[in-house]
Amino acid sequence: MCGIIGYIGDNGALDIGMKGLKRLEYRGYDSAGLAISNGKEVSCIKVVGKVEELEKIVGDKDLVGSSIILHSRWATHGGITESNAHPHADCKGNIFVVHNGIIENYKQIREKLKLMGHKFVSETDTEVLPHLIEHFYNGNLEEAVIKALKYIKGTYGLVVMAKHNSDRIVVARMFSPLVISVNEHGGFVASDPSAIISHSKRMIFLEDGEVAVIKKDDFIITDLERKVKDKKETELDWDIEEAQKSGYAHFMLKEIMEQSESVANSMRGRLIIEEGISKLGGIDSVKDKLKDIKKINILACGTSYYAGLIGEYLLEELAGIPTEVDFASEFRYRKFPTVENEAYLFISQSGETADSLAALKEVKKRKALSLGIVNVVGSSIARETDAGVYNHAGPEIGVASTKAFTSQVVVLALVALFLGRQRNLSLADGKTIAKEISKLPELINNTLKDISAIELLAKKYNSASNFLFIGRKYSYPVAMEGALKLKEISYIHSEGYSAGEMKHGPIALIEENFPTIAICPQDSVYEKTVSNIQEIKARNGKVIAITTQGNEEIKSLVDDIIYIPKVNEVLSPILSVIPVQIFAYYMAVSFGHNPDMPRNLAKSVTVE
Ligand code: GLU
Repeated sequence: MCGIIGYIGDNGALDIGMKGLKRLEYRGYDSAGLAISNGKEVSCIKVVGKVEELEKIVGDKDLVGSSIILHSRWATHGGITESNAHPHADCKGNIFVVHNGIIENYKQIREKLKLMGHKFVSETDTEVLPHLIEHFYNGNLEEAVIKALKYIKGTYGLVVMAKHNSDRIVVARMFSPLVISVNEHGGFVASDPSAIISHSKRMIFLEDGEVAVIKKDDFIITDLERKVKDKKETELDWDIEEAQKSGYAHFMLKEIMEQSESVANSMRGRLIIEEGISKLGGIDSVKDKLKDIKKINILACGTSYYAGLIGEYLLEELAGIPTEVDFASEFRYRKFPTVENEAYLFISQSGETADSLAALKEVKKRKALSLGIVNVVGSSIARETDAGVYNHAGPEIGVASTKAFTSQVVVLALVALFLGRQRNLSLADGKTIAKEISKLPELINNTLKDISAIELLAKKYNSASNFLFIGRKYSYPVAMEGALKLKEISYIHSEGYSAGEMKHGPIALIEENFPTIAICPQDSVYEKTVSNIQEIKARNGKVIAITTQGNEEIKSLVDDIIYIPKVNEVLSPILSVIPVQIFAYYMAVSFGHNPDMPRNLAKSVTVE
C-alpha cells in the first residue's frame, strides 16, 4: 500500500534510490528500509520513522552499490517495528524482498515453511515471500519467484534481489501498481511514477500477473507461465507533483477515483459467498464473546460518525442488535448507563482521534468489550481496543475523507454480516448480501464513469449560498456526509436533514435560491422521499436527485438528476455518497479553493 523503488545500473544506486524514496514520502508511511548490492555483498538497513532517519544511518556507512531496492511501509500485518519493516530476507541472507499489498494465505504458508525449518523474524505477511522463493531457488531468481507466486493468494507489487544474481532485479504485480523504465541511465522500477520520473518520462505500466526481469540495460516481461509479453511504453508529460497525484489535479479527486480499488482491498479475502459469511481475522479472538453481545455503541467523530450511523442501520437490520451511535466528544461527558453484554465500536481513519481515544479510556473503565474499525495499522485505537478490523483502504492524503468513508461502510457491512450469521440471518440472506458486497467495486467504477456531468452541475449551482441535503433510512447519513463535505472544502453553508423531518421546521428555509440535493435511490422508502421532494418543489425549491439508473418517472419532478447503479439498499450509501463527494469537490474547485488543504482543518484531529 505504500512506496517501492528499485534500481540497477552503475555505482550511484544509493543516491538514486534515496532520492526516489523521498519522492514517495507524500503518501505517508510508518517505516522505511533498503537493501543495496555491490555485486558481492548485500547490505540491508531498516528504520522506524521517516526517510530522514534512514538517511542518517546510511550517511554513517560507506555504502556503494550498483543495485538497490527500497520501501516505505504502511503496515497492514504486524506492528510498526524495525523487524517488520522491509526488505525481508530469506534464511541464508541471499534473497531480499520489498512488497506492497497483502498476502492473504500467509499464515498457512508460514506454518508449512516453519515445519521445513525456515526461521521467521517478523510478524508480517510479506516475510513468507523471501522464504518461499528460497525454497524454490536453484540459482535462477526469476524461476524461483514465479514458482513461489503460484502459491500466493492476495495482492502484491514486489521487487526481489538476490546476492547470487546481482545482475538483475525481478519484479511482479498483482493488484498493486508497478511501473518500470529501462534507459541509458539503468533499469528502474517504482510503485508510483513520481519516484522515477526525473530519470525518464517513458514508462511501462505492469499489469496483473506480469513479471519483469530488469537488468541495467535490458528487460523482459513475461506472464506467470513465462510467456513473453510485448509491452508498449507510455510517455508521461507529468511533472513530479502531477505524478504524485497520478495525473489528477488534487489528491481528493485521486482518492475519489480510487474507491473501486480501495473498497476491493477492504473486502479482499474476507467474504465467503457460498457460505454467506465474512471472515474477519481481527475479531476472531473475541468471536465467542460477540455471540452474547446484546447492544453495540458506536463512537466516532466527523465522517466516521456518519459511517457509524449507517452501521447502526446495518447492525440492526442484518444482525438484529440494538445499536446506538454517538459523537465520541459527547459520549465522554454523558452519564451513559451501562448495560450487560454491550460492546463499544470505535471508528477512526487515523486511529489517533483525540476525542475517540478519550472515549475509549472511559469505556475501558467500564470493562466492556471494545472494538475498532481503523485504517492506520498499529495506531493508538488499534492497539488499545480488544479487537478490530482494519480498513486496508491505503493512506488517505486529502483532508476531506472520501475513500476511508466508503471503506468504513464496507467493513461495517462485513461486521454486520458476521454478527448476523452468528444470529438469525439465514444462509440465503447471508449469501445475497455477500454477493452484493462482492459486486461493489464494479458498481463503483460504473458510478465514476461520468463525473463531468457532476462538474457541470457544480458550476450551474455555485451561486447558491446555502444547500440542503435530504435522505431517509440508509440515505439519511449520506445526506449529512454530503453536507459535511460541502462545508469542509467549499465553505458553503449546508445542512443534512432527514427527509421526513423537513416539514417539522427546515422547510421554512426553502425558496428559489436554496437548492436541495435529495438522496433517493429506489429503495423501500423511495416513495416517501419523493413526497418530501414534492413538498420542496411546491415551495419553488430547486432539487437535484441522486437516484437509481433507469428511474425515468422522477424526471418530471426534479430539476437535475444524477444516476447511480442499482444495489441492495443496505449498501446504497457506498454508491450514493460518491456523487456528493464529487459535487463538493467541483464546487470547491469552482471557487478556486484547494480541496486538499481546506482552511482551519487538519487531517487527523489529535486535540480535544
Ligand atoms: N503487508 C505488508 C506489511 O504489512 C506490506 C505493507 C505495505 O504495503 O506497505 O508489511
